[in-house]
Amino acid sequence: MEFYRQTKSKIAKELGTNFEKGLDSQVIQEKLAKVGPNALVEGKKKGVLQVFLEQFKDLMVIILIIAAIISAFTGSLESTLVIIVVLILNAILGTVQHVKAEKSLESLKSLSAPTAKVIRNGQKSEIEAKNLVPGDILLLEAGDMVTADGRILENASLQVNESSLTGESTNVDKLDTQFDKEVPLADRMNMVYSSSLVTYGRATVVVTATGMQTEIGKIASLMNETKERRTPLQVSLDQFSSRLATAILVLCALIFGIQMWRGQQILDSLLFAVALAVAAIPEALSSIVTIVQAMGTQKMAKENAIIKNLAAVESLGSVSVIASDKTGTLTQNKMTVEDIYIGEKVLKPQELNLSNQLHRYLLYDVVLNNDSSLSDGKAIGDPTESALLEMYRQVPGIDLGNGVLGLSEQELREHAGRLEEVPFDSDRKLMSTKHLIHTVPTIFVKGAIDVLLKRCINIRLDNDTIRPMTDEDRKKILEQNNRFSEAGLRVLAFAYKESNEELSINSENDLTFIGLVSEMDPPRQESVAAVTRAKEAGIKTVMITGDHKVTAVAIAKKIGIFTDGDMALTGLELDTLNDDELDQKIEKVSVYARVSPENKIRIVNAWQRKGRIVSMTGDGVNDAPALKKADVGVAMGITGTEVSKDAASMILADDNFATIIKAVANGRTVYENIKNAIGYLLSGNLSAIITVLFASLVGLPVPFVAVQLLFINLVTDSLPALAIGMEPGDPDILKRKPRDPKEGILNKSFVSQIAIQGLLIAIAVISAFLLGLKDSPATATTMAFSTLTFARLLHGFNCRSQHSIFKIGFKNNWYSLAAFAVGTILLALILLVPGLHSLFAVETLSMQELLIIAGLALVPTILIQISKIIRH
Ligand code: ATP
Repeated sequence: MEFYRQTKSKIAKELGTNFEKGLDSQVIQEKLAKVGPNALVEGKKKGVLQVFLEQFKDLMVIILIIAAIISAFTGSLESTLVIIVVLILNAILGTVQHVKAEKSLESLKSLSAPTAKVIRNGQKSEIEAKNLVPGDILLLEAGDMVTADGRILENASLQVNESSLTGESTNVDKLDTQFDKEVPLADRMNMVYSSSLVTYGRATVVVTATGMQTEIGKIASLMNETKERRTPLQVSLDQFSSRLATAILVLCALIFGIQMWRGQQILDSLLFAVALAVAAIPEALSSIVTIVQAMGTQKMAKENAIIKNLAAVESLGSVSVIASDKTGTLTQNKMTVEDIYIGEKVLKPQELNLSNQLHRYLLYDVVLNNDSSLSDGKAIGDPTESALLEMYRQVPGIDLGNGVLGLSEQELREHAGRLEEVPFDSDRKLMSTKHLIHTVPTIFVKGAIDVLLKRCINIRLDNDTIRPMTDEDRKKILEQNNRFSEAGLRVLAFAYKESNEELSINSENDLTFIGLVSEMDPPRQESVAAVTRAKEAGIKTVMITGDHKVTAVAIAKKIGIFTDGDMALTGLELDTLNDDELDQKIEKVSVYARVSPENKIRIVNAWQRKGRIVSMTGDGVNDAPALKKADVGVAMGITGTEVSKDAASMILADDNFATIIKAVANGRTVYENIKNAIGYLLSGNLSAIITVLFASLVGLPVPFVAVQLLFINLVTDSLPALAIGMEPGDPDILKRKPRDPKEGILNKSFVSQIAIQGLLIAIAVISAFLLGLKDSPATATTMAFSTLTFARLLHGFNCRSQHSIFKIGFKNNWYSLAAFAVGTILLALILLVPGLHSLFAVETLSMQELLIIAGLALVPTILIQISKIIRH
């Protein structure tokens, strides 16, 4: 059925729905069972088998397979077998980790799944969008994402952005109309389509198609491929791995050449090359990164920060500016009306008088020009507006039913129904509605004082007269506004005019001023501590708000964002600065007031020009571009629009500024843990490379066989590396400066640290090898292998933190002890169970030799620990 060409009654019949009451529960269940959930079938995911096979595509693994083949030729079939078994184990491990990481991403996705407002069983409710069915009555307003296709039933200036469907980026107007002939999709103004964004206005819509039946579903089925996105860190490690692989191949060829030149047999020379290749390949590297990131995001989700884009975890670690909204993020967003300025007097709500005409007009404006509602003491809607309804209820006489104004707010709203409206938007900072008051068409306007006062020409007085507004009046009003603002109160101004003109942005002029209402929104308790922690962490917090500058500065001072010597700018002042001037001032500015969403983008750009990594919060429809532009765009889980959540890379489930700071700490810890795990793996590998190179250059026999190195790299090294990844993090992590974003993970000091530690372990291993050689080459190999394994297991403790093990202790990371214990037991089994000797090419060692091994393996760790103690 082509719904855009049908009459509404036909549509209602076809879909079996009622436009006023919506569907009832039973019908919904039946429909849901029939058409399935409202979700796009995701592109074919890789099957487990495919993931498993892909583990063998890696160049490193291919080198290992070649090593296995060479081993077979050199007569050690057992080695070949072990290599193959280990490779399969490795692939299984890789597959499990891949599936786990994928699952954890899935669960994050479901945490940020979109919702939809509907009318069902005759009542308004909010449901998960995936439960929508055709026939549902969907309520759309600015900031929503359209989650199904639908036909418009009622329209109040709805504008949507359909770029994801049509590619057209301008907003399109929607209409409640009917077409009698065929029109292309982009011109069907009476329809809305899934995945478009509501940028303005409101509408009621009947759902006509869900899931894969929607227009976007039809396109999605054509391009059913989900791309795997890799984070910058993963990409740079991939690049490092491929460079390493090339270097290894070159080195192997070189070693092979040297051995041949020495007059060795081809097969013996090959053994050297194979040992080197196996020693050098950090098999566990890439999966460790994936798994540590996945665990990090899980932890963040538990602490209310939902990561939508893995790259944000890395960026969080180097965030040095957080630009945060005030209302709801730094403050509680629990507004209460404090004082009212009306008829040149400051009054409390209880002091308003129903028989005063001026007061009555304020109350009309307060209730009628208001989209909130209070039911059972609970507020639904914008807290700024809910506070006004609470105020209305405090006025003496309201509940008594004496006269029109005695009516409850619902009754008043029914009595003077809304004829037209221009909704509030944070650019215009005004809202207007039109009603019949005693049969006279009247437009009520409320909004920010600086915008509204300019549009007032008259003032209504206490004695029920109206006269032109004088400069003296303006001065008095502004002075009062200043007094409210200095106390940190949000101020709303109220005005009206009697007029029958069609209501639009252009009719918000020639108004009559009524009064001011001030509202208190206390700072969140956690905000002050969080701002202090941010400061210690080298992060500047900047407040961005639509509120008045004086109000904003007063609150910013309370929270600790605005300190002596800081500056505050309004959006208008910002507009007068060019980029150079802004760049000069930006470090000083800690409050931006009366900003528009475009201002936000300029602020992000200016900080980014300074090379800073910026996190910015946003909740409105128009915030999406700024959220996308920021390095870490943060949306509000509770009050945020679907549009802002869609654009953000992190969502705060509790809307709380303090959660951002926790997420930064987690981001830093994840990065630190990954770095430590990488350091551990690479320094261990380096020690083996140095040993093999040394043996080759000096003309000694090959110190390890491939199986031994594989055992270390894949088994005994993986466990401590994982344990390092689980490290809970340095409690002082927020006392350090943010990481320099330009610096790669493998910076100079890190590389030299890896080199020194690798060299220390190598010296211990070479000593063991030389001592063993006095006995036999087989003993030498056994001793070298055992020392290498044990030294690397011990080295796991060194890499947990920058601090010495005596400072961090074992209690907060039992995994590291467990990893060490398991590795040591496995090594002991290899050395002590004779049946395993031939598999791993080891000999039985004497007690004295075992003690030598333990002693030598301890030396690097002792030295590294001493150096840590000295350095701190
Ligand atoms: P923040 O940016 O700190 O989150 P905000 O986004 O809530 O603040 P806006 O909602 O843009 O700020 O409000 C800016 C100004 O607009 C307020 O100071 C108030 O004067 C006015 N205002 C706020 N809400 C309404 C409303 N519903 N109707 C009319 N005017 C409003």
